[in-house]
Amino acid sequence: MHSFKEQFANSKWAKMITPAGSRECESCGNEYKVYETPKGLQGACETCLDRELKKDLPFIEDLQERRALNFIESFERVPRELKEATVNSYQPKHESQVEAKKLLAKFIQGFEENKGISLVLSGHPGLGKSHLAYATAKALKERKYKVLYVKVSDLLEHVRGTYNPKSPVSETQIFEMIQGLDLLVLDDIGAEYVKLNESGQETWVSDVLCKIFDLRLSQSTVCTTNYSESELAAKYGTHGNRITSRMLENAKGIRIEGQDQRKRKDAF
Ligand SMILES: [Zn+2]
Repeated sequence: MHSFKEQFANSKWAKMITPAGSRECESCGNEYKVYETPKGLQGACETCLDRELKKDLPFIEDLQERRALNFIESFERVPRELKEATVNSYQPKHESQVEAKKLLAKFIQGFEENKGISLVLSGHPGLGKSHLAYATAKALKERKYKVLYVKVSDLLEHVRGTYNPKSPVSETQIFEMIQGLDLLVLDDIGAEYVKLNESGQETWVSDVLCKIFDLRLSQSTVCTTNYSESELAAKYGTHGNRITSRMLENAKGIRIEGQDQRKRKDAF
């Protein structure tokens, strides 16, 4: 910290400030220097000033932490029907669903020791993949981990939005946030709109997905998809195999089977 004298050393008032001995601090008893200034005698105990500043530090750190969490949350868009979902409230109707439920409960329980382990939940729509994925995100968030649950199409939209010069958020900020997460839950990979170029290849979406998986190497990611590995690989063209192999890096794949739980009997 600069002393009172140093702060003014280069100002035009410097000549008007002259040492005027020292004082004893009323709080801690330390001596500190005082100066004769146009505003009268000035000076402060640096030990006490320091202590005062440090008192505010945890608050400042909290604030930074809070801002980082708010930033993560600003990307989360949870469908209403998932908001109340918990792993416990998932009702398996098929052996593979029982297995999936157990696997995610274990994933949550062992998250701290198994950091870096990822999961890929695949299977037809309506089997509760999003339910389990979101419930996992929610449970770990409650345990104070930095977690983002996001639909892939929403995340891509956010990234695309940063190309607008008026965007308050930059692409780099999004990627840094993704890299800093304890857990990234990417829901519904493969369902996003894919635009093919002249040679019939998707480039932008697969570039972004490659980048995301690169940033998550050695960190935990939970992915859900309605597609099989080979279908996804085919979908992303030249990058296809790269994307699926990164998704599966250090990951357990589980295929959920059964009847679409959202389907009801035809009314007509
Ligand atoms: Zn003091």
